Amino acid sequence: MVEKRDYYEVLGVPKNATLDQIKQAYRALARKYHPDVTKEDKAHAEERFKEISEAYEVLVDDEKRKLYDQYGHSGLTGQFSNGGFQWSDFTHATDLRDIFGDMGGFGFGGSIFDALFGFGGRGQQGPHMGQSLRYDIEITLEEAAAGGKREVSIPRSVTCEACHGTGAKDGKVQTCPSCGGKGQVQHVQQRGYSRFVSVSPCPKCRGAGRTYEQRCPKCDGKGVQLRTSKISIDIPPGIDSGMRLRFAGAGDASPDGGPPGDLFVVVHVKEHEIFRREGADLWLEMPVEYWEAALGAEVEVPTLDSKAMLNIPAGTQDDSVFRMRGKGLPHVDSRGAGDQLVRIRIKVPRKLTAEQRALLKKLSEQSPKKSFLDRLKGS
Ligand SMILES: [Zn+2]
Ligand SMILES: [Zn+2]
Repeated sequence: MVEKRDYYEVLGVPKNATLDQIKQAYRALARKYHPDVTKEDKAHAEERFKEISEAYEVLVDDEKRKLYDQYGHSGLTGQFSNGGFQWSDFTHATDLRDIFGDMGGFGFGGSIFDALFGFGGRGQQGPHMGQSLRYDIEITLEEAAAGGKREVSIPRSVTCEACHGTGAKDGKVQTCPSCGGKGQVQHVQQRGYSRFVSVSPCPKCRGAGRTYEQRCPKCDGKGVQLRTSKISIDIPPGIDSGMRLRFAGAGDASPDGGPPGDLFVVVHVKEHEIFRREGADLWLEMPVEYWEAALGAEVEVPTLDSKAMLNIPAGTQDDSVFRMRGKGLPHVDSRGAGDQLVRIRIKVPRKLTAEQRALLKKLSEQSPKKSFLDRLKGS
């Protein structure tokens, strides 16, 4: 398999590119590689055009870009319908229209556009897939770390039981008289010496090939009904915000006998009170008394699921970071876990007891006055 190129590299923009820079880069490259206008080899251009469109799809979307920056290509597997980018995942068809709209009568002739965005208006035939649904859930950082099951109630359309999805009262259907059950009708046009035959879906039965005299009263002839379905969701340990779980066939039922759509569950992980997440690592700010830092100490630090002891060596400075291996979140797509990183914050007491004050006074009298350079070097 060919190694996937970095999206920033594909569009030729820096990692910190602004939305405008990304749009500009895509605009220029799209004009270069669109298969209908390119001067390059067509097959190569088509491949490049898809590649830049995939990069664009990810980098102009806040959530996807964040996942990509954090996890690279593997962070996006849940974002695309088949684990990888397909043209059907491209949600910026209107941007392309903007880009090519001003090219003087450029009419989206043939190619990718007709087939994928339906710009050409070719009628789709046969049964349609039901609509895919999106459902957002919010989980705590602890839940994200442990994973587990969650039951959700999803309003979605299901096949009407009364008419078995036919839309006919008591399921009594008849062959469509308009098309004789074929679902499509032919138009013949004579132009000069040529005959043009075009086929389109039958307008009476909308391509189904069958129709009915009385519509089903339960679903008003639609063949589907709105129901709330309980769906059990498996949350993989280590999941992060913006990741998408796909449940094949758990979307809306098809209105005309096609397969149901999919359900996409988008996960949002709540901010934690004390931990900050960075991929599989957890960051914690740990307040430490300055005498603990000076003398060294063993301190108790919280972990996500309990607590642990951390050894702070004598002479520890403010802002030092200690790494507790394997105490982070599990990696969502590989073995092992991230680390917990503890950043030391040295505290100066706001109030002192009389005894503490006396001790500190003694300490200060013992210490010689220091020049700036001595202070800088520390001692
Ligand atoms: Zn019905
Ligand atoms: Zn018909």
